Amino acid sequence: MPREIAVPGRTKEILEHHGFSFKKSLGQNFLMDRNILEKIVLASKAGPEDGVVEIGPGIGGLTEHFAKAAKQVEAFEIDGRLLPVLEETMAPYPNVRIWNEDILNVDIGRVLSENFKHVQDIIITGNLPYYVTTPIIMNLLEQRLPISRMVFMMQKEVAERLAADPGSKDYGSLSIAAQYFADPVKTMVVPKTVFMPKPNVDSAVVRFEIRDTPPVEVEDETFFFRVIKAAFAQRRKTIWNNLQHNLTGRDRREELAAALQEAEVDSGRRGETLTMQEFAHLSTSLKRHLP
Ligand code: SAM
Repeated sequence: MPREIAVPGRTKEILEHHGFSFKKSLGQNFLMDRNILEKIVLASKAGPEDGVVEIGPGIGGLTEHFAKAAKQVEAFEIDGRLLPVLEETMAPYPNVRIWNEDILNVDIGRVLSENFKHVQDIIITGNLPYYVTTPIIMNLLEQRLPISRMVFMMQKEVAERLAADPGSKDYGSLSIAAQYFADPVKTMVVPKTVFMPKPNVDSAVVRFEIRDTPPVEVEDETFFFRVIKAAFAQRRKTIWNNLQHNLTGRDRREELAAALQEAEVDSGRRGETLTMQEFAHLSTSLKRHLP
């Protein structure tokens, strides 16, 4: 058995052997800490009957740990230069398949239904490229895929926004959108020193347990998310000002006042103080008053 991939000596050897140079534009910061990789696998609860989708395998450091823990790994890597590297590093793991594709263009639902017919739970994971963290996560959540959970490494600041509670400085439309589809929990903070090359910021791991049903009842999801986006358009403004400027317009002030009253939301509050339940009531009332 060759030496583990994600240790400094072997990683350097692999990179030198293939003459690989990092592309900053693709968020290429490879993780080199066995302890953290093991903790990611533990957080994912991956077992021998489970199927795993990995986003951005790089040279395969995390992939190797999932290959050992799970039944099957389907990994999507955008950078074609990494294919010969992965061919070599993944050679001992016949349960890993590498796809040379941009994850944002992949029909994941189809990948799951075609490749994971005989697995127990499905897990999506990855040490995500920083430049597309939020679009990747939201795109996966909105598709309502038949998966159990997702575990991702990301910039610490984004992790804090995803898991934030109402009233906190990090709470915003991203927190509500993520918490509508899943229960995101920050499981650990990871220092920048364990990456090669070292990024500018610290990272964190977030586990998303996918919800069977959303925690609030919403009649029109598209409108619910439009209300939330409008309410947070300018953080320092009140819910009244934000909704008037970004949703209803000045000539519907009476209807806006009636909807806020019906939803029992004081017009002087700021969006960041409203719970998801309050946004759900508010969007229902707004819909009724603004046909
Ligand atoms: N998994 C490896 C590790 O933990 O060391 C590499 C993680 S590195 C932060 C992110 C990886 O995602 C890189 O290999 C990069 O080439 C790849 N990547 C970037 N954008 C991508 C995209 N849109 N689709 C698939 N992979 C992408």
